[in-house]
Amino acid sequence: MQKFDVVVVGAGFAGMYALHKLRELGFTVKVLEAGDGVGGTWFWNRYPGARCDVNSLEYSYQFSEELQQEWSWSEKYAPQPEILDYANHVADRFDLRRDIQFSTRVISMVLQESSRWILTIHSEEKLEGQFCIMATGCLSKVKTPKFEGLKKYKAQVLHTGDWPKHEVSFEGKDVGIIGTGSSAIQAIPIIAEKAKSLTVFQRTASYSIPAHNAATNKEYEESVKTDYAEFRRGNSLRYAALNNNPNPVSALELSSDERHAYYQSRWNDGGLSFLASFNDIGSNLEANKTAATFVHSKIHEIVKDQTVAELLCPKTVLGCKRLCVDTNYYGTFNRDNVKLVDIGETGIEKISERGVIAKGEEFSLDALIFATGFDAMTGALLDIDIRGNNDLSLKEKWESGPKNYLGLTISGFPNLFTITGPGSPSVLANMIVAIEQHVEWIASCLSYLRDNSKQRIEAEVKAEESWVELVNDIAETTIYSSGCNSWYTGANIPGKPRIFMPYLGYPSYVEKCESVAKQGYIGFEIS
Ligand code: FAD
Ligand code: NAP
Repeated sequence: MQKFDVVVVGAGFAGMYALHKLRELGFTVKVLEAGDGVGGTWFWNRYPGARCDVNSLEYSYQFSEELQQEWSWSEKYAPQPEILDYANHVADRFDLRRDIQFSTRVISMVLQESSRWILTIHSEEKLEGQFCIMATGCLSKVKTPKFEGLKKYKAQVLHTGDWPKHEVSFEGKDVGIIGTGSSAIQAIPIIAEKAKSLTVFQRTASYSIPAHNAATNKEYEESVKTDYAEFRRGNSLRYAALNNNPNPVSALELSSDERHAYYQSRWNDGGLSFLASFNDIGSNLEANKTAATFVHSKIHEIVKDQTVAELLCPKTVLGCKRLCVDTNYYGTFNRDNVKLVDIGETGIEKISERGVIAKGEEFSLDALIFATGFDAMTGALLDIDIRGNNDLSLKEKWESGPKNYLGLTISGFPNLFTITGPGSPSVLANMIVAIEQHVEWIASCLSYLRDNSKQRIEAEVKAEESWVELVNDIAETTIYSSGCNSWYTGANIPGKPRIFMPYLGYPSYVEKCESVAKQGYIGFEIS
């Protein structure tokens, strides 16, 4: 059996950096990846229109000054193929592939002698790691609803999160798409331009802000690169580790005309910074309503058919589900070949041999796209049969929701680390920034153990309980406690326990992680 100091599961941005960082520190590392290439999210999500919604000058690694100086992004929000090229470039540049085993899915992980993990891959083959890092991704397990009749459907079925590598042509086809989250919102305008017809099945309308994507502004790029480290440092001090120009003013302090004008200027800037228009959109429902009302007014302005416009207006709290960023999403509903079918009240009845049955009507389709999202944050982890102390499985441990310490370690599961898991800022921060911080914290922790001749680290139950409480207490002060019905809470998966999973506020999270390390890893049992 092959043995390593560290086994990393997943070769997305998290797994790739973990490999580089730990190898640099002299650990023997093996990465196991289910796909046949690096890039994770950007390897699997190849649907038309896929791109990041965080400026690429920020949605990129900062660990290598040479890398960040030399790489140039073609657009403000790079498209998926370019982000995948970047991941491949990083893999080549840092010679990562020699320690990555591709097309290898980890099926189970069992703790041996209380401090080593035995991983089973391909049903039989085994590998040993003293430490394991789960870089399995928080949006990597796709969710395909179990619609009655789906197996009988004869035409093409696709999922945005598991899109084929080859080009998919929609030319002359009647296409249906289920879902109106971020993935659908990016794909719909592009597919609509190609397909004979596009039917959009919407269960819940989403708020979306125009991206105003454009070719990279070279002057801006140069100014960032003049002192990239300082630019990154500034971003890391912001709530979501983003350069989103937060306005420290309450939405309720302005007159309605002033507020509208201000929202309009943010709308003109585009992107996620809309959420930072005022300092209380995320914490005060009345302030939030003003942002929602503004977006409603824009939808009514853009969409010609006012009945369709009204159906596209979300009735939810803005930001409760992740804010979407689009290029011509609402405008696409002005096309003659695009039809919105609102299934909010009825849902999809079933799938027939020919297409979708909803609202008593059969929609005959040549291609059906699931843009139905992911079993987020815990799905990929719980897919693996992970067994810790006394054969306790992670599934049992998290039966009523995920519990961990610092969003990085789980009591009962020593020597195991998770990256961007529940209890960490992950999806509510610029994720590459969060990933680098996690990897660096874990790397320091492993070095500390090695330097002190220690073999084992495990989160204490008490520390874990306090952490879970803290994550909840922070969420309680925000709009997320208003009964948000999103994948942040597990609400998109029938039967999944409902708990608000992310830690809100990147800077305070980092501070806490650093303080724990400085105090000799307080809250951990080390032996
Ligand atoms: P992933 O990239 O998900 O990689 C995890 C890897 O683990 C996968 O390759 C998977 O195959 C592998 N894996 C999982 N289970 C196993 C197993 N059992 N055995 C072996 N391998 C396994 N975030 C942002 O901050 N900004 C954005 O603009 C942004 N855009 C996004 C767009 C899309 C379409 C999606 C889906 C997500 C986006 N995200 C964005 C979030 C994105 O997931 C992260 O930014 C980041 O790429 C995650 O990297 P990761 O390495 O943690 O996980
Ligand atoms: P998502 O946000 O979870 O959206 C899934 C959509 O499918 C929702 O509209 C959902 O409706 C619908 N749906 C799910 N099950 C359904 C069912 N049984 N019947 C009918 N409709 C159903 O998933 P996503 O769009 O793939 O995005 C996931 C996350 O990935 C995003 O939130 C974001 O973090 C990231 N992402 C980012 C970008 C980007 O712009 N950079 C792009 C894509 C994804 P309900 O809302 O009613 O559940």
